[in-house]
Amino acid sequence: MAEEPVPSSARRRVTELREELAHHNYLYYVLDSPELADADYDALFRELQSLEESYPRLRSKNSPTRMVGSQALTPFRKVRHRVPMYSLQNAISIEEVRAFRERVRRLAGSDPALGAELKIDGLAVSLTYHHGELEQGATRGDGEVGEDITANIRTLEGIPARLKPVTVKGLPERFEVRGEVYMPHAVLAGLNRQREGEGLPLYANCRNAAAGSLRQMDWQVTASRHLEAFFYACDPHPREIAGQSQLLDWLEKSGFPVNPHRQLLESEDQMVEYLEHWREARHQLTYETDGVVLKVDQLPLQQELGADSRRPRWAVAFKFPPEERETTVLSIDISIGRTGVATPVANLAPVLVAGSTVERATLHNEDQVRAKDIRVGDRVIIRKAGEVIPEVVRVLTDSRSADSKPFQMPTDCPVCGASLVREEGEAATRCPNPLCPAQRLQRILHFVSRGALDIDRCGPAVLAELLSRGMIETPADLFQLSREQLEQLPQFGQRSARQLIAAIGARRQPALARLIYALGIRHVGERTARLLAQHFGSLETLRHADVESITGVAGVGPIVGEAVANFFASPGGRELLARLAEVGVSPQAALGSDGPWRGLTFVLTGILTNWTRGAAEDAIRQLGGTASSSVSRKTTAVIAGEAAGSKLQAAERLGVEIIDEEEFARRLAHPADVAPVEQSNEAKSGS
Ligand code: NAD
Repeated sequence: MAEEPVPSSARRRVTELREELAHHNYLYYVLDSPELADADYDALFRELQSLEESYPRLRSKNSPTRMVGSQALTPFRKVRHRVPMYSLQNAISIEEVRAFRERVRRLAGSDPALGAELKIDGLAVSLTYHHGELEQGATRGDGEVGEDITANIRTLEGIPARLKPVTVKGLPERFEVRGEVYMPHAVLAGLNRQREGEGLPLYANCRNAAAGSLRQMDWQVTASRHLEAFFYACDPHPREIAGQSQLLDWLEKSGFPVNPHRQLLESEDQMVEYLEHWREARHQLTYETDGVVLKVDQLPLQQELGADSRRPRWAVAFKFPPEERETTVLSIDISIGRTGVATPVANLAPVLVAGSTVERATLHNEDQVRAKDIRVGDRVIIRKAGEVIPEVVRVLTDSRSADSKPFQMPTDCPVCGASLVREEGEAATRCPNPLCPAQRLQRILHFVSRGALDIDRCGPAVLAELLSRGMIETPADLFQLSREQLEQLPQFGQRSARQLIAAIGARRQPALARLIYALGIRHVGERTARLLAQHFGSLETLRHADVESITGVAGVGPIVGEAVANFFASPGGRELLARLAEVGVSPQAALGSDGPWRGLTFVLTGILTNWTRGAAEDAIRQLGGTASSSVSRKTTAVIAGEAAGSKLQAAERLGVEIIDEEEFARRLAHPADVAPVEQSNEAKSGS
């Protein structure tokens, strides 16, 4: 049969779509920073697929419809996968899932059972085990070639570094276990709060944050991001295993984290019920899932059905539609951050989205408001990016009132009245006045925050009240507050005033790293503050260091170096340090890398009675040790408090020493007595 001629409009559109998809693939897979919502990307992808189906002459093996992910353009070593890592065909309606079942039935000549698993929204990784030892971790990349991220993978809690002999029995000396690395919602929310404070771009969702955190050249950054993983495949799999559901049980028994929500589906009705259930129930999870993957359960049949260039024929991902709601923009405020960044924020008519009420959504900056043309009074569609961050997706312009006006970024700071400035080439508009009360409030809030001086009972309402009554102007003034002053505030009685004064007083000698972080220097997060504290050992040395010596610290780049030097040279920075010294705030000397616990790594888990987590970590670092969030064979000891969970289990599995709070306190009191326990662990696991 002769092929239909291809109209030039179809040819043009195909070229256009390919270019557009290639651009979005680059933003998504390489930069981890997409501009399009997934559902919008999927719509373009499907349009291209349908044109290529209608006009086979337009098919090309270089089309995005035939490719997986994107080539990795990073400095990581490239790794060729022994078996390609595929994408999945997707279905966006129950009808499409039924059509998938029908296709499978036709190809298989039977009605095979399907297993359902949650589709975890992270990034795919492949772990190679050699003689039971974790040898290599790799990203999917373009499905054929990925990136070697072994050092980073080793920082994830719960990934077995070594498998039991019984697990590997019968398997070839090298095999691969595959799964998804993800970032839990709460971790993303905390990370974005920290990045916002540091003036860094926010991650759009859990998937991009996981990818950005795993693909770091410095494994310590990955370790600080608290990533987790679920595994779902092994290649080749043990011969005695015949089904995917059995394989998942086996992975779990072998020590891999496996998602507990999985089910073998007996009938089509049960399948539909399962998909409907998770469409809503997913909002209760602490991590992101964007669908359910249905897989033919029998492994030999999977093999028989095979794959096309990018997708197996035996599986389909049912993708949940993003939960979107309509609401009205009541007003647009300008919020002033710690570094003076002026962020437009929409106040919305309250609406329930993905399990909680949304009333405000950041609009990021002037350009973003303009691009979406968001105006006061508009009806808008909103959703939560990555289930966490409310965002305005688009405006329903049809229902816009005729007299609405485009958004105008104000020319003056709404709080102090200073003229706002926008530097050429920057997206952010700033209030340049360091004395602006809004900036002051944010700076003091930062100073007392968890990672900084960690002073409880000092929330925004209390600090705003203290500022407005002129009782404080800088963070240093907190140390001169009296009980009588606090008692004048509506938030305090005698007892609570006494408690806050005591809490502030207890922070007069903070760890050096905490104090450096608390100063609120641009680009200096907790980790950079620790590096600087370890390297310079005292505030005096750091404040006199020049840009070259600051950038000479491993892990500190030129932009950070300059920001640190500028801070200490600035009148504001100098004044703050002088005031802190005046009120008696002086950091504890950092023993850092010279301490007796140099080279030792401790992991805290559970609740300690006499320590906050931060204080215990400080004490370890003070002695030169490392406080890590994940257990590996290199861990010196796990300090287990009450209700200790998976880290304790990981320590037991890896034969790492476990000590209680009392023993921890004893070792702190006699730090030099601590034997190099690392060796004893090696000895144990080698036995
Ligand atoms: P996918 O994310 O739709 O599905 C395949 C992936 O699902 C697998 O590689 C695996 O990593 C993962 N997965 C999670 N749980 C699983 C489980 N239990 N079993 C098996 N696999 C599981 O496909 P993809 O190729 O990774 O990405 C394509 C999708 O990415 C698009 O459909 C689109 O939504 C999104 N995307 C968006 C943009 C954008 O600009 N917004 C750009 C490119 C891609």
